[in-house]
Amino acid sequence: MLELTIVPSSGAALPTTPFHARHLIGGTWRDSADGATTDRISPSHGIVVSRAAKGGKAEAEAAIAAAREAFDDGRWSHLSGKARAAILLKIADLIERNADRMALIETLESGKPITQARGEVSGAADLWRYAASLARTHHGDSHNSLGEDMLAVVLKEPIGVVSIITPWNFPFWILSQKLPFALAAGCTCVIKPSELTPSTTVILGELLAEAGLPAGVVNIVLGLGQPVGATLAQDPRVDMITFTGSTAVGRGIAAAASTTLKKVALELGGKNPQVIFPDADLESAADAVVFGVYFNVGQCCNSGSRIIVHEDIARDFTERVVTLSRHAAFGDPLDPATQVGAIVSAEHGAKIDAYVSAARSAGATVRLGGAPLKVPGLTAQFYAPTVVTDVTPDMPIAREEVFGPVLTVLTFRTLDQALALVNDADYGLSAGVWSENVHTCLAFARGAQAGTVWTNTWMDGFPEVTFGGVKQSGLGREIGRHGLEEFLEVKSLVMRIGRSRAPWVRGQG
Ligand code: NAD
Repeated sequence: MLELTIVPSSGAALPTTPFHARHLIGGTWRDSADGATTDRISPSHGIVVSRAAKGGKAEAEAAIAAAREAFDDGRWSHLSGKARAAILLKIADLIERNADRMALIETLESGKPITQARGEVSGAADLWRYAASLARTHHGDSHNSLGEDMLAVVLKEPIGVVSIITPWNFPFWILSQKLPFALAAGCTCVIKPSELTPSTTVILGELLAEAGLPAGVVNIVLGLGQPVGATLAQDPRVDMITFTGSTAVGRGIAAAASTTLKKVALELGGKNPQVIFPDADLESAADAVVFGVYFNVGQCCNSGSRIIVHEDIARDFTERVVTLSRHAAFGDPLDPATQVGAIVSAEHGAKIDAYVSAARSAGATVRLGGAPLKVPGLTAQFYAPTVVTDVTPDMPIAREEVFGPVLTVLTFRTLDQALALVNDADYGLSAGVWSENVHTCLAFARGAQAGTVWTNTWMDGFPEVTFGGVKQSGLGREIGRHGLEEFLEVKSLVMRIGRSRAPWVRGQG
């Protein structure tokens, strides 16, 4: 029997010098005043991929000042939607032209497969194009039925200066879920990428200038959450903060932002269930389960990391999943044959392993994997595809975000039981149902507490379709029309026509 499918080192040529990532503040590329830098060592290949300036409070404050000035003088916010769209479209073209360069560095910094990184960069270009279409078409409301002497208009205005803080798992994709929409709305921005994956954000900074975006409209500060991210969350000159990352850090950001009552949008974690009914297309469901849990080595907010399978098919379905798991190609991210790459860091690999060990000690059965994976020719951290059964709903592995290639299997008998298991969760990012019965699917979709419900598919997404979570998975929405709305403030303009206003003060003759 096939054990696992492992792609050894392809021996692909690696860059010989690290990428030099610097801050972009007011249109100028800068190192940190104290010269501090951080090296990012590739989790898959062990080389220094990038050397990034390590900013402090001073750099964060300078970037906020630049964004504030650029917003207040109207160099971007006063442009027409048509002019803004033209620049966003140029940026999309430049992203596509630079896709290979961006994908290579994204792969080396994150450990994700090169084919996936290329797909993410191209998909991100499409988000920029879609946001360009919104820049020209969004509008407010008019109220023409308030009486013959009244007219009211509800204006949509850019909210102002937006702080954007992004994680390491989809660095360029997640930035593109936010930045083009903020720019389409007319906002100016300060971005802090994850310290583990700064480079594609910096490359984008170069492309923005090439596309003609005015200096100061987008600023980039590199460094750690403390102090850079914290400054971006607190500073009174910032009007909104949009954050993607862990629920714990998101909570801290919401608290920090509350001191100045700025708007907060949070895209946080998930522990996403897929429910499989006996009448489903089980072949397709098993394949989607395997894709959903191993995509990005499970380091994915949308990871379909817990399946809830009908008791009558649980045994056979789990076998199908285990068999398919053995065929998923884990290994060298630079080999185009690889489907699943490296874990982002050794510490994170140890955390994944600790979840599996604790489940084993608590009585769960590890049906497949459950250990670090050796990839011939590569020294860094990989983790085997892992399927865990005999899990109870109270075990941490069934409730918490493992963020690794680890699937837990629970079972149910009735739709109500399945929904109870789905909703017995702190998170509410996404959920899925597999059944050929449309009534079952609709009842599930209505009952599931989640920002997105997939029926007979998993993780299909489109720029038009909005995304976000409920419960502890977040606040606010991204992409789609609602994604733009997050960056718009509403102003009501009430107008009296003619001299029909009755005086309030009486008796003046
Ligand atoms: P993280 O929360 O550790 O870090 C995210 C970002 O926040 C990084 O840039 C980090 O430097 C910064 N940060 C850290 N401390 C900060 C502070 N005190 N103030 C301000 N900024 C701070 O998350 P991560 O480990 O980079 O990413 C993994 C997490 O992201 C997972 O929980 C995952 O579910 C979540 N995620 C969610 C989505 C979504 O759309 N819902 C998408 C991707 C990832």
